Amino acid sequence: MDLFKSCIKNKIFYNHSEILLPGNSFHLGVDGFWVHHYNKPHATDTEGHNNCPYCLPRVHKKGTAEEYTSWIHVFVPFVMIFPGGLTLPIYLYPLKSEQVNISANTEELKQECELLAAHIVLPKIREQLPRIPITFLGDGLYCNQPFVKLCDYLSLDYAIVQTENSLPTVRRECDQLAKTENHKIYSKQISEQSETKNINSEFQWFNNRYLGSDTYTNILRFKEINCNSNGNSHTYKNEWLISQKINKTTCKQFSERGRLRWHQEDFHNTLKNRGFAAEHDYARANPRIWLNWKLLMVLAFSIFELFSHTQLAIDAKGTRSWKQFAVSLFAELVNVLWSDINDSHSLQKQKIQFRYVFDTS
Ligand SMILES: [Zn+2]
Repeated sequence: MDLFKSCIKNKIFYNHSEILLPGNSFHLGVDGFWVHHYNKPHATDTEGHNNCPYCLPRVHKKGTAEEYTSWIHVFVPFVMIFPGGLTLPIYLYPLKSEQVNISANTEELKQECELLAAHIVLPKIREQLPRIPITFLGDGLYCNQPFVKLCDYLSLDYAIVQTENSLPTVRRECDQLAKTENHKIYSKQISEQSETKNINSEFQWFNNRYLGSDTYTNILRFKEINCNSNGNSHTYKNEWLISQKINKTTCKQFSERGRLRWHQEDFHNTLKNRGFAAEHDYARANPRIWLNWKLLMVLAFSIFELFSHTQLAIDAKGTRSWKQFAVSLFAELVNVLWSDINDSHSLQKQKIQFRYVFDTS
């Protein structure tokens, strides 16, 4: 969080606000991370019982002769997601077994962990960042009236995916409205053509929908048909709850902002597969040390993420992958005395300036 605040103070985001802050807002995503699978307790008391508060038990083959229990650790990262390929984690929340229904199935448990973490952590984030405009990007799990009310209460904007099964009454109302002649003024079609493809987008919106308990929202329906030059077409459909009123000017931007959430998957992939070894636990005997490790991992990720968007890093990397580049930087670092690093020309400067580059394609 301090690193993020120092980026705000140093105007990294505001100096590139046209790319990084669509709608003049920061975008916050959340997605649970399941790490460390154990087939026996990794930390036990004198009687051999699991005494790690973060171990969530999973019972397999329940009721059969082969029934057994395994344990997992779940933490929920809250990540600022920017267009241009930048993601910065600002908060990690680890779940304890006493907080959740451990008898729920895996998918239900995943949802419970994420929803609970959001209800606990979003007020803390708002307290830490009281003045910046934030848009919460959520999947269908957050598509409910209490969560929308929480966002309103915390002055958070939101783009939350509305799934087929959520808010059925609101969905029926929108279906009815869409059939009326008058509703055409709340829709827009855009055709974009290039040499290689043809994209037809359709937007429909329904402002001021009542969710109950004095809560209102706006709904954006989006459909995109993407045809390439070979005649193959791909259709993408989505529907979001949007905190702000939608109109002909803003509908396209809201659909793009809603889709920013996808970038969070890349954050997970990097932590798991691109050198951070997120699934390694490193410290088993002490139930709390793994958390310190995860915090260090996320801090390292954030620093490297910022560095990798500087012209200096892009030029130095050349044709290597970011992982190869980081490995060779590290190899150099361990061979240089700390005193030499400390005395280096660049660290003697009062102020080091980086030129940031963000991909707009
Ligand atoms: Zn544990």
